[in-house]
Amino acid sequence: MKHNFGAGPCILPQNVFKQAAAAVLDFNGLSILEVSHRHKDFVAVMDEATDLVKKALNVPVGYSVVYLQGGATLGFTIAALTMMRDKKKAGYINTGTWASGAIKEAKKVGLDVNVFASSEDKNFTYIPKDYSIPTDADYIHFTSNNTIYGTQFHEFPKTDLPLVCDMSSDIFSKVINVAYFDLIYAGAQKNLGPAGATLYIVKDEVLGKSTSPFLPTYLDLKQHVEKESMLNTPPVFSVYVAMLNLRDMLANGGVKAIEERNDAKAALLYKEIDENPLFKGTVYPEDRSKMNVTFLLHDEHLSEEFDKLWKGAGIVGLPGHRSTGGYRASLYNALPIESVQVLVDVMREFARVKG
Ligand code: PMP
Repeated sequence: MKHNFGAGPCILPQNVFKQAAAAVLDFNGLSILEVSHRHKDFVAVMDEATDLVKKALNVPVGYSVVYLQGGATLGFTIAALTMMRDKKKAGYINTGTWASGAIKEAKKVGLDVNVFASSEDKNFTYIPKDYSIPTDADYIHFTSNNTIYGTQFHEFPKTDLPLVCDMSSDIFSKVINVAYFDLIYAGAQKNLGPAGATLYIVKDEVLGKSTSPFLPTYLDLKQHVEKESMLNTPPVFSVYVAMLNLRDMLANGGVKAIEERNDAKAALLYKEIDENPLFKGTVYPEDRSKMNVTFLLHDEHLSEEFDKLWKGAGIVGLPGHRSTGGYRASLYNALPIESVQVLVDVMREFARVKG
């Protein structure tokens, strides 16, 4: 068995894989891959997958949940179009590659984007804190967890303006107050399910108010909500597996229990990074991500030997993003603490051999 530290698509619970595999062969007499999305059996799946998101995150009344395609990358555009109002101005926090991507798309759809806080000056190794949030904007946007750089907002920005969040890499990892947001979007392929579906949680009152002169049907979130994620053919298999995963999540204590497990996993690995003389973390300790743990060898010349050791222990997905190098251990919900312990043991053994 491999220990999958990949950043996404990533590990899901084994029992979800087993049920998904079984449904490929038999979903009420058909394969889940051949069933019509309009068939009542799949409509029931979509309904349950939507309801379970509401349950898992305690989504308040007045919010809708929809599954689309296009990844969080299309979410950058959909978010900007959905939230555009008369000012045609938006405030963004730039904390790395994905936040920069969101900024770029907001500009493309015609918004005047005010990047009022950024950690680019220190290569995105921290979460900006000393900033004043603009009041002259249609909405504020931030990225809750920076998958590549390994930083995470442990406190959300405070604003009276509508707040929009790309939560792709930490949704379902911890308890959140959905009511604090007007729009949340997230690619499925971290803690929710396989790639293909993208989740949107939107406050109903923001729908239908876009001032964009350009709003193609697929990019109009209101239409997706009205059609209950069935405006066009949804990513059937991805939604099905998301439903299985959400069932599993809720059967195992829900997001609160997951958060406790995630805290323990992150604490175990960061402790080793801080104590082991061969390694160092790459970001400000107070802004460390509990999902994507980024670290380096003090002496990069040792990387070949270290790589051999962790690969030999059955670990996969540990190299850092191609833009940052070093290492990134992604500790998504389904990664067991035993896998983190294997990595910690390898790091210790390496220090012993080299020490
Ligand atoms: N935002 C974040 C925080 C991400 O981690 C990613 C992908 N890793 C994206 C956006 C882009 O998502 P997608 O590939 O689903 O378009």
